[in-house]
Amino acid sequence: MPPTDRPLSRRRLLTAGGTVLLGLGTPVASVAVSEPVPTPEEVVNAGPMVMALTFDDGPSPQYTPRVLDRLRDHRVRATFFVCGDNVVRYPAVVRRIVREGHVLGNHTWSHPRLDGLAPADVRGQIQRAQDAITRISGHRPVLFRAPYGQFTDSALALCAELGLRPISWSVDPKDWTNPGAGTIAERVLAGAAGGAIVLNHDGVEGGDDNPQPGTGADRSQTVAALNAYLPRLIAAGYRFTTPDRHPPATRRRASRSQAWG
Ligand SMILES: [Zn+2]
Repeated sequence: MPPTDRPLSRRRLLTAGGTVLLGLGTPVASVAVSEPVPTPEEVVNAGPMVMALTFDDGPSPQYTPRVLDRLRDHRVRATFFVCGDNVVRYPAVVRRIVREGHVLGNHTWSHPRLDGLAPADVRGQIQRAQDAITRISGHRPVLFRAPYGQFTDSALALCAELGLRPISWSVDPKDWTNPGAGTIAERVLAGAAGGAIVLNHDGVEGGDDNPQPGTGADRSQTVAALNAYLPRLIAAGYRFTTPDRHPPATRRRASRSQAWG
């Protein structure tokens, strides 16, 4: 029996087309059956000593190449959640990210707060970025991160429609506040755990030449911190992956397996 033939109890049914509130016991004649709306993933489901590094808001011609150099030195693959407007500004950097084996994720077109946008504008932000990243990199993103982690209902519904997995994080060293490379490294090491997803920033909203106020446009501490924490994590036995390589995690928390002195 197709699922649309049977009555559904009262619940909030989220579909890719939006939110549908169903009455108690109401026979449902025509409800669009679509992909269930995903939950933002805070961990990566890849084994007890595997983590994921992510870099947001780029690409940046100034900082992304330096991040890529360090990732290459340590043979680490990462995910770059890029903004569409920076992708079209700096296409050569985008192509280098892909050429060196990293993964691109969708971080909207221009990094707005999604809770202040109409659903049509959320769609425009995500779709426009998706199209630009695909056109310039040759790869269609399958991962999405909302600016400021604001995974609104309309953004999550659109993720389901577009085949995007919403990726959150479990470790936030607040690198964009420039607390010092040592502090960034300490915070990453403190959060290191199997499944941990680390939030970093290699890029600048509005581009390197036109940084938006309050975004902390200097990413050199983020770059320097990599040299401080990557060797220690690798020596401790951690490996690094990208979320697209693994099925979505059902657990919400990373499992701590290392105490750092
Ligand atoms: Zn961001």
